[in-house]
Amino acid sequence: MKTNYDVIIVGGGPAGSIAGKMIAESSVSVCILEKDRDIGYPVRCGEAVSEGGLRQFVEPRDSWIATKISEFRLISPNGTKIDAHLTSQQGFILNRRIFDYDLAQIASDKGTEIYTKAYVSDLIVENNKICGVKVEHFGEEKDIRAKLVIGADGVESRIGRWAGLRTQLKMKDIESCVQYTVANVDVHPNRIDFYMGETYSPGGYLWVFPKGNGMANIGLGISGKFNGQKSAKKWLDEFMDREYPNASILTTVCGGVPCAKPMKNPITDNLMLIGDAAHFVNPMTGGGIISAMKSGWIAGQVASESIKKNDTSAEQLQKYAKEVKKAFGDNHKRFYRIKETISEFSDADLNGIAEKIAKIPVGNRTLTKIFKAAVSKKPSLILDVVKVFTGI
Ligand SMILES: Cc1cc2nc3c(=O)[nH]c(=O)nc-3n(C[C@H](O)[C@H](O)[C@H](O)COP(=O)(O)OP(=O)(O)OC[C@H]3O[C@@H](n4cnc5c(N)ncnc54)[C@H](O)[C@@H]3O)c2cc1C
Repeated sequence: MKTNYDVIIVGGGPAGSIAGKMIAESSVSVCILEKDRDIGYPVRCGEAVSEGGLRQFVEPRDSWIATKISEFRLISPNGTKIDAHLTSQQGFILNRRIFDYDLAQIASDKGTEIYTKAYVSDLIVENNKICGVKVEHFGEEKDIRAKLVIGADGVESRIGRWAGLRTQLKMKDIESCVQYTVANVDVHPNRIDFYMGETYSPGGYLWVFPKGNGMANIGLGISGKFNGQKSAKKWLDEFMDREYPNASILTTVCGGVPCAKPMKNPITDNLMLIGDAAHFVNPMTGGGIISAMKSGWIAGQVASESIKKNDTSAEQLQKYAKEVKKAFGDNHKRFYRIKETISEFSDADLNGIAEKIAKIPVGNRTLTKIFKAAVSKKPSLILDVVKVFTGI
């Protein structure tokens, strides 16, 4: 590990690896510091992505894909089932352990130096300027300097807080998630299921994502505003006892997901935040892999340009904030408004909506139609629905 780089990236998730790849490609010196001993492990994720989303950045490899998804099912609190096909593009349930590892390898092949078991414990600030990080690497404490630090340190990010950025989330915008990867379950091989309503998961939803060979990721998220009532694990255990009593639980993971509006200001002089660290998660679905990669992609380009211009001021890095807003930030705000409305629905409301959607012939059930029906009592949201699902 050198003592000086142009750019230091803290965190070796999808956001960090894609940023590393972009920066190294432009011959700017960059390292990734990852606190865990393995890139991509432990996996804290349902692992669902859209194929089109992924293809923006990489050619998917067969080894990344556990299953291909062509259908989805919504289940209302009274058990009404809404089946629909993914018409415009299919999805994947990934093997994130392999996927994250390979993304890091791709970044490394381009010239990014990657260190695991490298825990960043603080920023180095001199004359009010961020100029590197303090890292603990195999018991040794080191100061590593850089012109620019990128915080890709996930939902529990401390980089942003240390830099004085507003990273706090409202309780209601943090989903407490728990997920089991289970064996011995009979699930549809190409369909993802979502269970809605307070019966399953208050202020969130419960998912069943097939992983092939009788395995599945089954998890749920509950809004922080219901914390203190029943734990997410208890909700999940009750569901498992009811629906999959013979399942064997091979892995248990817990984690928070920031289902908030994207951070307004993910930059300051000499520092950028990307991925979950900047709350770049689709607030309605909780999916963050693609926006982590997209923000890493944009941040990597802006970082390279800024280093070459010898200007890493907040003013210069604004370009990153602007491009992220254009790429998905405005859509995330629309998703946030839709989520806010849907989260107020009672179980009876959801049952009523499900019955309405059930009348739409299966072949006509597009996401736009389903969500238009869901927000029909709030016509001001119809335009948001049309914009996020059709891109118009
Ligand atoms: C239960 C659950 C299910 C989910 N399901 C889905 C899903 O199906 N689809 C989807 O798109 N998204 C899902 N997500 C969200 C998704 O996992 C994240 O949005 C995505 O991983 C964000 O990528 P990232 O690179 O920003 O952060 P991460 O992948 O979290 O990577 C951050 C990295 O930073 C490292 N780090 C943190 N602090 C330090 C430090 N001080 N020093 C060095 N390294 C540090 C961490 O060890 C970690 O490796 C889910 C999340 C949870 C919790």
